[in-house]
Amino acid sequence: MNEERRSRSSRCCSTDGNLEACASAQDSSRRQFLQTAVSGTVAGLVATAGMEFARPRPVLAQSNLTPDAALQELVDGNRRFMAGRIASDAQDLAILKQNTIEKQEPFAAVLSCADSRVPVELVFDQSIGHIFVTRVAGNIASSEIIASLEYGAAVLATKVILVMGHSNCGAVKATIQGKGAPGQISALFPHIQPAVDQAGSNLEAATKANAKIQAALLRQASTVISSLVKEGKLKVVAGYYELANGSVALLD
Ligand SMILES: [Zn+2]
Repeated sequence: MNEERRSRSSRCCSTDGNLEACASAQDSSRRQFLQTAVSGTVAGLVATAGMEFARPRPVLAQSNLTPDAALQELVDGNRRFMAGRIASDAQDLAILKQNTIEKQEPFAAVLSCADSRVPVELVFDQSIGHIFVTRVAGNIASSEIIASLEYGAAVLATKVILVMGHSNCGAVKATIQGKGAPGQISALFPHIQPAVDQAGSNLEAATKANAKIQAALLRQASTVISSLVKEGKLKVVAGYYELANGSVALLD
């Protein structure tokens, strides 16, 4: 096992400290609407990316990662994915499995659509134990999703939450069309409607607006998340995955 694999597969977990952070966050009733401006597209950066992106940089113990560094890990992984230089498949899955049986320490969380064309770990060139993924059609911040991401942030200490919409999203498209739907499918629509109200019937514009609205909801509706953001321990960003070329653009 080389050093790179060892580093990535042996990140340790300090549950006690994280639980303290959880309690501290929950105690705080202050809400912080910190808008962190993150701009630039991965696609644009790829043009200047050299061979150094062919292999992942070792992810150090999670406690050493800043929110910006965690986001950069996702950005770099997406560069490798776009460039066809996936490196996560070279990691020893047996070791990763063994080292994550009793603990997990994902450095990032992603709220993605359930769409089968958006394989989150693959898109960011990550493997077992690296990303805390919540998926629901339309990547909406329902109460259960917020609860899950709060657990990820407060207990597992994820350093960044990326809300990722994607091109040709059926959930957003159905909301724009506003037609009836069988069963409980229509329960999704009220969550997405504000984006349609804001951006209109253009699918891409509405999908990007939805990702940004859901990210803002996470920052504002969760005292746990907003407190961690205010303390500089967590970043919440929105992004847009382009099916055609595999790029993830970060949205302002
Ligand atoms: Zn979708």
